[in-house]
Amino acid sequence: MEDQKQPTIVAMMPSPGMGHLIPMIEFAKRLVLHHNLSVTFIIPTDAPPSKAQTTVLRSLPAAISHVFLPPVDLSDLPPNTKIEPIISLTVLRSLPSLRHALHRNIAALIVDIFGTDAFDIADEFGIPYYIFFPSTTMYLSFSFYLSRYLDQSVQCEFRDLPEPIHIPGCVPVHGKDLLDPVQDRSNDAYKWFVHHANRYKLAHGMIENSFLELEPEAIKELQKEEPGRPPVYPVGPLINMDHAQTGTHDCIKWLNEQPDGSVIFVCFGSGGTLTSAQMDEMAHGLEMSEQRFLWVVKSPNDKVANASYFNAASQADPFDFLPKGFVERTKGRGFVVSSWAPQAQVLSHESTGGFLTHCGWNSILESVVNGVPLVAWPLYAEQKMNAVLVSEDVKVALRPKVGENGLVERGEISSVVRRLMEGEEGKEVRYRMKELKKAASKTLGEDGSSTKHISELALKWQGKTTN
Ligand code: UDP
Repeated sequence: MEDQKQPTIVAMMPSPGMGHLIPMIEFAKRLVLHHNLSVTFIIPTDAPPSKAQTTVLRSLPAAISHVFLPPVDLSDLPPNTKIEPIISLTVLRSLPSLRHALHRNIAALIVDIFGTDAFDIADEFGIPYYIFFPSTTMYLSFSFYLSRYLDQSVQCEFRDLPEPIHIPGCVPVHGKDLLDPVQDRSNDAYKWFVHHANRYKLAHGMIENSFLELEPEAIKELQKEEPGRPPVYPVGPLINMDHAQTGTHDCIKWLNEQPDGSVIFVCFGSGGTLTSAQMDEMAHGLEMSEQRFLWVVKSPNDKVANASYFNAASQADPFDFLPKGFVERTKGRGFVVSSWAPQAQVLSHESTGGFLTHCGWNSILESVVNGVPLVAWPLYAEQKMNAVLVSEDVKVALRPKVGENGLVERGEISSVVRRLMEGEEGKEVRYRMKELKKAASKTLGEDGSSTKHISELALKWQGKTTN
């Protein structure tokens, strides 16, 4: 603990939505609780804050405050504008109000991956700036590799490259498995992505929500000093472990009745949706697997896979889209929840033995911390790349095959679920996940490397070290 009378203030600027806010809050809590810093969240918006945001921000310790910047006008954007330009323009158009919110007493400004335009404002105040990277080191390495090399050297779409791409320190990844914004290089989403990746080198440091045992080679590679690459501080796995707010959800009561390690949890994050045909296959596949399951069901969407990113609740009753008689036929063995379940609580429950996930990075980290092996079912953003990492590199996930019609068919779903829950392959991935769980707990323990990186940053911001 530090003994300063006036705590050092750090400002954090997450982009809109919950996915980046949650791990930044966990980082903030550690700075406040272990290092006596004070943190202000400055949040750009294009609409009034969501209930999820306000609930979570109001429940924080007094040393963590927040301010929502006035909503910016995005009404000039075409209706099919992708999420990266939306978030980037929200930040860009919020810069005048950011200037009002900053002051010289702030020791550091921490933005997330779409917030690099705020660097210019921080420069006006002489405030050093950092990036909080809420995804894999593989993704971060890809961003540097793209900025330095790929963007200039490859002329075609990356998905048309015949060979996989070798990002330094990472498992080879096929162009079609790279993140969404780089799948169409003529789209504004790509231009914004490259814009931010080109600016990462300006940051004073990259705060990475991963840890050495999870991505050893990628982290070692990035930690090699190189001109134009800021120092990287792996601080993960930072996840929201606060179970107090959720109370006892019906699904937890149901889990209490199930045998240890017997249930597969099926959930596609805050935003993920399936098509109606895929939802139908999922229901039949889970039924055919004869395994116990807990499924968070959202109304299907036949156009986009992240239909509920900014609004986690389904618009219609999702149960209406399940096959006729499904709930009755699977009663006792299966439990279906509409739209949202207390995932952290579910994953830490002893009845949970597997997780079929959309591979959002928070979801993967939550599973790692609880030692729950995965079925990797990526949908959007960088999730395909995450799926490659967990299934081919870390080998803590099984990945179902997508059929020629673009669907994962019921037989394949049933097979992959059975293989995870009771097969030999399942045993192997389970074993590796348990090992990773131990490593995760150690790295954030007293002498762990993530803890040391957090201390290093805190000391730097308190002016106690110079480098
Ligand atoms: N989450 C939850 N209940 C749900 C769906 C999601 O509690 O039904 C939480 C989950 O625990 C995680 C976050 O929402 O902390 C999702 O983040 P992730 O990075 O996995 O995916 P995203 O939603 O950003 O795609």
